[in-house]
Parts: sequence; C-alpha cells; structure tokens
Amino acid sequence: MNQVIEFLKENPHIHYAIPQSPDFEELRLGFVINETKSPAIVIRPRSAEDVAGLVPLLTKNNLQFTVRVGGHDMSGRSQVADGVTIDLREISHIHVDVESQTARLGGGVICMDMLEELQKYKVTTPFGVTPSVGQVGWATFGGYGLLSSTYGLGVDQIVGAKVVDAEGKIREADGTMLTGIRGGGGSLGVIVEITLKVYPQDQILAGAIFYKSEDLAAGVIQFNAAYSKAKQEGLPSSLHLYQAILNGPVGKTLSLFFMWASSNLEEGQQWLSKVSSWLPVAMSTVQPTNQRDFGSFANSMIPKHTYGTIFTVNFYDLTPEVLEVIGIHGKKQPNNPELLFGIHELRSDAPRDPNIDTVFDNRVPHFLIEIIPLASTPEVLAEGLVWGEAFINALRNTDPTNIVPATYISLTPNKELNMKTIYGSRHETFKKIKKQYDPQNVFNNALPRFENESEQS
Ligand SMILES: Cc1cc2nc3c(=O)[nH]c(=O)nc-3n(C[C@H](O)[C@H](O)[C@H](O)COP(=O)(O)OP(=O)(O)OC[C@H]3O[C@@H](n4cnc5c(N)ncnc54)[C@H](O)[C@@H]3O)c2cc1C
Repeated sequence: MNQVIEFLKENPHIHYAIPQSPDFEELRLGFVINETKSPAIVIRPRSAEDVAGLVPLLTKNNLQFTVRVGGHDMSGRSQVADGVTIDLREISHIHVDVESQTARLGGGVICMDMLEELQKYKVTTPFGVTPSVGQVGWATFGGYGLLSSTYGLGVDQIVGAKVVDAEGKIREADGTMLTGIRGGGGSLGVIVEITLKVYPQDQILAGAIFYKSEDLAAGVIQFNAAYSKAKQEGLPSSLHLYQAILNGPVGKTLSLFFMWASSNLEEGQQWLSKVSSWLPVAMSTVQPTNQRDFGSFANSMIPKHTYGTIFTVNFYDLTPEVLEVIGIHGKKQPNNPELLFGIHELRSDAPRDPNIDTVFDNRVPHFLIEIIPLASTPEVLAEGLVWGEAFINALRNTDPTNIVPATYISLTPNKELNMKTIYGSRHETFKKIKKQYDPQNVFNNALPRFENESEQS
C-alpha cells in the first residue's frame, strides 16, 4: 500500500479517504450497508489518465481492487474487504451531441445527473427505475427499465466506450471489446467513458398508481388478467408498466410505475384511464412530466443507504400459479417502508438494433422478479429476510418449465452465479473476449467470474 500512498502524494489532485478520514464512511457506503466489505482506501481519480496510473500500480503490488460508482450492487461487489476502491464518481462529464443523437458520459455518472443534463437538450435514453444507480453499471449488465419497450434495454444503447485496460492503457473499445462490455460490464477494464444513443423526448405521462388493496391477493390476479388481455390485444411501444407491492403513502398496496414515453399525451391519457380501470385506484401521481422529474420522483421513494438483500427469479409468464404465490406472500409482506416486491418485464416488442452485438443473452420475453427485503436496522431486517426467503422458495417451486434458466447477473449473488446459464449462447464468445482482453484476469472482482466455473453446476 506504501506505493499507492506515494502515487497519491505525487498526484495531490486525486482525493482519497482512509478509515481515519472524516469522509471515509460516506464515500465507502453503498446502497446496501455491508460492514464485512470495508476497503482499506477509497481513491477518487478525476481522469482516464489517473485511472491508467493506478491500475498497473495495483496489479504490480498484488492489491485487490474494485471499481465503484453508484454502489448499488446488492451483493456489495463494488467493494472488497481491506482492498482498494476506485471510486469513479469524479469522472462525471456528460456531453450531448444532438446531431448524432448520442451522449458521452464519464464512467462515474449517476443516472439522475444524466437525466438532468439530457433534459436540457430534450433528449432521453433508457435508464433504471431508480435513477440513483450508476449509468454504466446499469447499462452494461443488461439495463431493465421503463423505456425498454420503446427503445430497448440499456445494453443495446452502448455505441462506444473508453477503457483503461489490463495493462493500464487508455483505449477506445473496438467492436469485439464493445461486444464484451455490452453484458460483461467492467470485466475487461475500467470503463472511464461510455457513449449512449439518445432519443428526442420532452413531455411524457408518468408516475405511480397505488391501487386499493383490501384484498391484495385478489387484486394481483385481477390486475394481471386485465394486463394479459391488453397485451394480447396489443400494447403500444410507448407504454411500459412496472408492478410492485410496496408500503407507500396509502399503506401496503399493489402499485404501478406507469410510463407513457411519447408526446402524444392524449393517447397516453386513454391508456392511463384504461390501466386505472383494472382495479379501484387509491391514489395516483401520474401526470404530464419529463424523464428528469419522473426520475426525481422515483428517487424520492427509496432510501440512500439501507440494510438488505435481493432475491430474484425470471419467469416466461405470470401464470395463475405464480400469481397465486405472489398474492399469498405479498399479503405477508412486512410493513417497513423500505421493503419492496417488483416485476420488470422484457416484452417481445422491445426493439433491438441488429448492428449492436452483445454478450447479454437473455432476450426471450420474460418477467424479472425482485423480492427486496430492506430495513433501516439489521434487527428490523431479520423479519424481511424470513419473508423474502419463503417467498423466493415458493416461486422457485412453481412449474419449472416456466422458469427462465438465466438470471440477471446484477441481482444474482456470487453463490448462485452460473455463467453458462446467464450468458447462454453468448457464453463461449464472452469467454474468448475475456481471454483476449484480460488474459491475467486483472479485473477479477468484476461481476462475471469465469475462474470459478467448474464449481458452477
Ligand atoms: C435500488 C436499486 C434499484 C435498481 N434498479 C434497477 C433497474 O431498474 N433496472 C436494472 O436493470 N437494474 C437495477 N438495479 C441493479 C443495478 O442496475 C446494478 O446493480 C448496477 O450494476 C449498479 O450500478 P452502480 O454503479 O450503482 O453500482 P456499483 O455497486 O458501484 O457497481 C456495480 C458493478 O458495476 C461495476 N461498474 C460500475 N461502473 C463501472 C465502470 N465505469 N467501469 C467498470 N466497472 C463498473 C462495479 O465494479 C460493480 O461490479 C437496481 C439496484 C438497486 C440497488
């Protein structure tokens, strides 16, 4: 570590924090508070050159390091105990090019800051339901969100990247490296800049609907029967819905993030009326807005730091059996405000650019289930964990032919990681790309782990 401290002395513009520093706690904390993964130092490079100076120094001295941005990895994998955290949040430039319909973002940009900047140009790009996440971490592993049926997944928006590679060289990612980044995240290098597609967009209709949920289990079934029928009749690509059971302003309810991503607000209002008729509504915040203001609203609904974890499974369909389990365990959901159950969806009509190659393989239409026990203290969390485990076990015990083998790597803890099922038909290609760009596995703390594959069933 002495050489690292020497490097930092020679580069006084680089801020760092050690456990004795007053800002260490705030800098090292992620979304999930994880006391077992406290680093020895958090280093905040300000440029690609700073990162390029650091990477070889860390590898030469055999120091374990991780890259951190939004800190929203639910398993705390952007920190390593007693290691070095490269915190990219000061590499946060955002350049929008309206003509080429792209935006270049520093590797440390938080989604909400991106939305603020994009709104100035009346453009947008897909983003996660909670914009406190880092945009690179969100987009490079898949990127589910409320614009996937309009513009596609986050991973499909990536058209360029600047990377500090395993040798510490700054390079523009070539086509093969970009393929690996799209789905493989930081496994090939530190992504110091990313270029994303952007789309003209200003006014939209969006917000949350909280349904009356005296009988939550019946509500889940009734809502999904109506949704399924509407889907069969044809949903417009501008409409996207994220179902959740949350402890919101009107108590524990079946809730909906409603997104109408088109300036044709009249048509959007018709869909809002339709969706609002599927169950009696207790409260709605859906209104004409823009992606920035909707993002702020979504952010206001979640805590900054919390205790907790996530359980996940993907289904081809929300069958009556699955919905029954959701109803039963939704009713038992503890009442602490942070805790949440949610369903992302990748629809069959989600657009995908055939010229953009990725190693993200899970393209079959599916529902991504998120059971998220969260709490402000470990004591309160205990009840949520019991609930979450019973819920996920019941879901995993439903008809196995309805369960998608692949899970979402961002939400899959290391002990459940199965690279072959996650990367499916792209597994061998990704493995080759990893070997080509990071043969020594310098980025061994990135989410994808090929080295443990023999232990994975
Ligand atoms: C509250 C919450 C809401 C979420 N909502 C969604 C959602 O709607 N849709 C969805 O798809 N996912 C969602 N996720 C999952 C989230 O997108 C991923 O965990 C994502 O990787 C988080 O990125 P981060 O920068 O915030 O986290 P971090 O923990 O800082 O990083 C996550 C991983 O990405 C790597 N990484 C990040 N940036 C870089 C970079 N520039 N270069 C190299 N490696 C990098 C890190 O090393 C780490 O391995 C959510 C997670 C939480 C906690």
